[in-house]
Amino acid sequence: MKKVTVLIPAYNEEEVLGSLYKRLTLVVSAIAGYEFEFLLINDGSEDRTLEMVKEMRRKDKRVSFINLARNFGKETAMAAGLDYARGDAVIIIDADLQDPPELIPEMIRFWEEGFDDVYAKRRSRSGETWLKKWTANLFYKVLKKTTTIPIQEDTGDFRLLDRRVVDALKKLRESQRFTKGLFSWVGFNKKEILFDRDPRAAGKTKWNYFKLGHLAVEGVISFTTAPLRLASYLGLVVSMLAFVYMIWIIFKTLLYGDPVAGYPSIMTVILFLGGIQLLSLGIIGEYLGRIFNETKNRPLYLVDEYNDEKVRDFNG
Ligand code: UDP
Ligand code: MG
Repeated sequence: MKKVTVLIPAYNEEEVLGSLYKRLTLVVSAIAGYEFEFLLINDGSEDRTLEMVKEMRRKDKRVSFINLARNFGKETAMAAGLDYARGDAVIIIDADLQDPPELIPEMIRFWEEGFDDVYAKRRSRSGETWLKKWTANLFYKVLKKTTTIPIQEDTGDFRLLDRRVVDALKKLRESQRFTKGLFSWVGFNKKEILFDRDPRAAGKTKWNYFKLGHLAVEGVISFTTAPLRLASYLGLVVSMLAFVYMIWIIFKTLLYGDPVAGYPSIMTVILFLGGIQLLSLGIIGEYLGRIFNETKNRPLYLVDEYNDEKVRDFNG
């Protein structure tokens, strides 16, 4: 029998775990012919998430779990989940029921038709503010313009991955992860299905604009070196402008003499150039920081417990 793993990263989700489990088991009971594994990744929750998961496992052996040593963030939690998933296919789903489990049968159907990556695209984003929608839109625009790999728009991590894709993803061990881009990078046979994203069932989002902005920078920096080129272009443009300005000043001095005015223009030029230099340094720094982090070669995450057993070997 084929095995399907449902991978659920969870960070402080005590309020929704119960209803998630109910809906998942209901959906899954209607699908015959597969063995299911519900793999919960407890990402260092401070609430009762872990106890609840353990309780679920006591009653239902389809539930398994990893307890990460601390909060590593969703991207890393998913990586851990992919390492521990045992299924022939893995379905990644948010714990907060924003991704409707009712889509799972359709995903499995397309998987059986031979698709390796069945991803759910949001038709609408209800419960999100216009600012979030607008920033998301802007982000996708920038990313699309600057990368060479096709990026799936309005698509989260809610998707079914074939074992082949999972194994491919497991090879990508970068520590600062932008998983959405990694799905695109590995490629394979993709299929899109549309759904309406519900607002969170309960609890509150762990994202704020600061974190989202961070993720957006992560996305651009880890997938393209375009910002470095932007720095070069800025330098080029500014030098050209400066050259034209220089010619103008030379002629002006020759024609009208030099009355030693010009404090405002010098100030403007210095500030402008200073700004551009700082910006370029910042861009270089972003990449340098990433190189620094990757060269440390640390394990992506540390696991404290896997299915009620303390983990000693940390390599999945
Ligand atoms: N999550 C996680 N670690 C974190 C933050 C979030 O594992 O540090 C999980 C969270 O439990 C949920 C999913 O990632 O299952 C999406 O999080 P959230 O709903 O807060 O994000 P949003 O839907 O608002 O983008
Ligand atoms: Mg959510």
